[in-house]
Parts: sequence; structure tokens; C-alpha cells
Amino acid sequence: MLERVFLFLRMQQLDYIIVGLGIGGLALARRLEERGHSFVVFDTQEDGATAVAGGTINPVVLKRFKAVWKASEFFESAQHFYRDLQKDLSPEFLDEIPVRRILQSAEEQNDWLVASDSEQCKTFLRSQIAVNPYEAIKAPFGLGTVRNTLQLKTPLLLEGFRSYLQHQQRWVNESFAYDQLQRVEGVLQYKQWQAKRVIFCEGVGALRNPYFLPKNILPKKGEYITIRAPKLELDAVLKGPFFIIPLGKDTYRVGATFIHKDLSPTPTSGSLETLEKALIKMLHCNYEIIGRSVGMRPTVADRKPLLGWFETDQLCFMNGLGTRGLFMAPLLATWLLDALEGAQPLPTEVDLKRFL
Ligand SMILES: Cc1cc2nc3c(=O)[nH]c(=O)nc-3n(C[C@H](O)[C@H](O)[C@H](O)COP(=O)(O)OP(=O)(O)OC[C@H]3O[C@@H](n4cnc5c(N)ncnc54)[C@H](O)[C@@H]3O)c2cc1C
Repeated sequence: MLERVFLFLRMQQLDYIIVGLGIGGLALARRLEERGHSFVVFDTQEDGATAVAGGTINPVVLKRFKAVWKASEFFESAQHFYRDLQKDLSPEFLDEIPVRRILQSAEEQNDWLVASDSEQCKTFLRSQIAVNPYEAIKAPFGLGTVRNTLQLKTPLLLEGFRSYLQHQQRWVNESFAYDQLQRVEGVLQYKQWQAKRVIFCEGVGALRNPYFLPKNILPKKGEYITIRAPKLELDAVLKGPFFIIPLGKDTYRVGATFIHKDLSPTPTSGSLETLEKALIKMLHCNYEIIGRSVGMRPTVADRKPLLGWFETDQLCFMNGLGTRGLFMAPLLATWLLDALEGAQPLPTEVDLKRFL
């Protein structure tokens, strides 16, 4: 009895609890802060996709020269969000460098020109095809350039945001134990916190969440290698068979592969071989492999995110961010909060009730 009284006395009243600090939880936390809500974020920094993501904010599918779904809306929201966030975080996580696509043939040159003149893509693609300026790159048919792309160093973004939250005493460095969440007289109670709502943003960690419908999350493994190549001298993200992403100090990430039905958290020899073959196609210079990384994309069968709630809006979800979570999360967070506040319903394409 006495224990219960003490718990009640140190109970912290909040608007929201967020579970998971990948890009989903981060974007929501920032949006809640902008709207003046109280919240804490639980995260253990384990197995997150965001920490290993390529970090490219790019609105175009560069395999087919097509803009992604609602490209302009997501792109505008992301650009504004990350530039604004950079002002509050001390590590420099944001680079404004272009993405350049290696064109493989005269036919691809033609496809690029057609796309860059199309209604869908003309704001994103430069129509001029650049002569290859990089001695170490094989690109006899030149390079197409995507306008205004951003490149995020996601480990620095997460590190900076974590210490930003820590300063505000909004970061709880522990795993959220689902079985300790209770509803007491209509209010959610978790240990010493009482909240109006909990929003779960656990990426593939949602497979363990008893409130979720885990069959809707399909983890898709992706692998990068990190190389050192002093002669490469790239000042852009390059897209050939895979991306080559400059990290600074002559180092680059190359990837990422897309592997179905492999949930192991370790690198595979098949991916190494695939990425090395791609490098042979793309590079004239030598390189040394200095690292490998693996991440799980939380994808969904219809390739749209999963936002919203099932029976009660006290338990909400932001998941299924798929292959472009960094690009989409800032606007998705706005959509979810607008829906919760009754300002606008969720677009049906992302509402998780579509799977009920
Ligand atoms: C190899 C690869 C490359 C990618 N490249 C790009 C790219 O270039 N551009 C782009 O836009 N997108 C990219 N993506 C996609 C993007 O990274 C993901 O869509 C996005 O990171 C998913 O974010 P999330 O917040 O949903 O999940 P995560 O980043 O996985 O974060 C979930 C967090 O929740 C935590 N968690 C889970 N359960 C609990 C619990 N019970 N208690 C506390 N914490 C918990 C986890 O520890 C983790 O930190 C890439 C993904 C991969 C794998």
C-alpha cells in the first residue's frame, strides 16, 4: 500500500510516451516539441535501421527515373525538417551534396532526358548530362544529377538528438517492457510515467510488440561495405549498380544490398561478392575494405508506411518506413499528429487500418 502511495507521488504526467528512437521516433519527438507537448522517449540503441541507413534524401527512383509517391510533399518537408534540426544539434550531420547517376548507355541517356522533361520529375532532375569529371569512375555515357538532395550522417544525427533529449530529461535509456503498460481509469500508466498516449516506433522491433499486427512488417536485410580509396576523390553520392557514399577522409560506403528471407544480423559472403563485383564495374582505382554493416528495413507488402491506431488512439504506431524512412518520416510524423489532434484524417494509403 505504502509503495503505491510513493509511486503515485513520484508519478510524472505526460502527453506522450514514444517507444523507439530511430528516425520514426526522432521525427515524432521533434514534431511534439514544436507543438509544445510533453513526452519521453524510450530506446536502447539496439538493432536500429536508422543508424546503418545510407542517409540519402532523394525523391527519385534512380533505377527507373520515376518520382516516388507524393515526392514533392515528402521532399519539401524533409528538407525543411533536417535543415531546421541541424541548427539545434552540434554534430554536423547534414551534407548538401548532389546525387549523380552513372548512365549506362545511349538509351539511358535518352531516358534521362525524357524523364527530366516530364511533369513528374522535371523539378528533381537536371536536364544536362554531365561529362564524367571523376578519373577513378567508369562513366563513358556521363552522369545525370538529382537537384537539391541531402545526405545525412545518421549515427551523428541520432547521437546529437539523443543528447539534445537528455538535456531536456526526455530520454529513457531502457527497453520498454510491454507487459508493464497498464490502463488505470482511462489513463496509460508505465512505471512512474502516466501518459495520454503511447506511440510505438520500433522498426522491426515491432515484431515483439503484442499490441501490433507483426505479420504486416516484412524485414528486408541490407548490407554495406565501407572502403578506403584515396584516389576516388568523389564530391557527390554516386549511383551505379549500387550507391557510393562519401564519408570523408577518403572513405566511402558502398551498397546497400536487398536480401529477402534472411533475418540474421550478420554480413553474408554473397553480399560481399555482389558489392565487390559492382565496384569492379564502377571503379578504375584500388580500394581497401575497412568495414561492413547490416540493417533491417521495416517494409510492408504494399510499400506504404503503417500509421495510426487500431481500437484506441491511446496506442499508436508509426512503422513500415521501408526503404525511404529518412525521406518520409518528417511528413509522416506531421500526418500522424494532425490525425490525433483531429486536424486532418490520415491518408488512407498509410492508415494501418487498411490491413484489418
Ligand atoms: C541498409 C539500409 C539503407 C537505407 N538507406 C536509406 C536511405 O538512404 N534513405 C532513406 O530515406 N532511408 C533509407 N533506409 C530506410 C530507413 O533507414 C528506415 O526506413 C528507417 O530507418 C526506419 O526507421 P524506424 O525509426 O522505423 O526504425 P529503426 O531505425 O529500426 O528504429 C527503431 C528503434 O526502436 C528501438 N526499439 C525497438 N523496440 C524497443 C523497445 N521495446 N524499447 C525501446 N526501444 C525499442 C530500436 O532499438 C531502434 O533504435 C535504409 C535502410 C537500410 C536498412
